[in-house]
Amino acid sequence: MKYLLYIPFMAACLLLQQCSFSQQPVKKETNQKKTNMTESDKNPVYSRQRTDKVTLTDEEWKKILPDDVYSIARLKGTERPGSSPFEHSKDVGTFYCKACGNPLFRSDAKFESGCGWPSFYEPVSKTSIIYTPDNSHGMQRTEVQCGRCKAHLGHVFDDGPPPTGLRYCINGVILDFEKTK
Ligand SMILES: [Zn+2]
Repeated sequence: MKYLLYIPFMAACLLLQQCSFSQQPVKKETNQKKTNMTESDKNPVYSRQRTDKVTLTDEEWKKILPDDVYSIARLKGTERPGSSPFEHSKDVGTFYCKACGNPLFRSDAKFESGCGWPSFYEPVSKTSIIYTPDNSHGMQRTEVQCGRCKAHLGHVFDDGPPPTGLRYCINGVILDFEKTK
């Protein structure tokens, strides 16, 4: 405990030092590098124009996707119901795959299903989505994946509204929205 006695002495020394340098401008450390990083620096496969298929290993995806996106896209996770701001959003625009930028749904095909997740009755195009039978959790469902990068998006059910009668029940975390200008 002896060293505690030195603290007032050291503080006084520091104070004196501060005063003698007080005329000098204070240099502030900034962390510009991180904040200036763009989406494409982190994720080189993201593109809203390219249509070539993206085939990366889970390890490679893990490096370029945020944790929450990775857990839905690659580990087929499900976000907590009611947690996505997209569920009730009325903004007009396009929803892209957050992992690769592939256009998936337009806001005019969005509807309030009350299921707890953003819901759509049709995708942007036939090739936007891949359909795969999913018999996990004792249910017979159809999984929907991104047509470009195979990210898990959610499931499609046949209890949707006209004109398709389909309900694409999608995790909001995997959606990247851009408003129509
Ligand atoms: Zn994708």
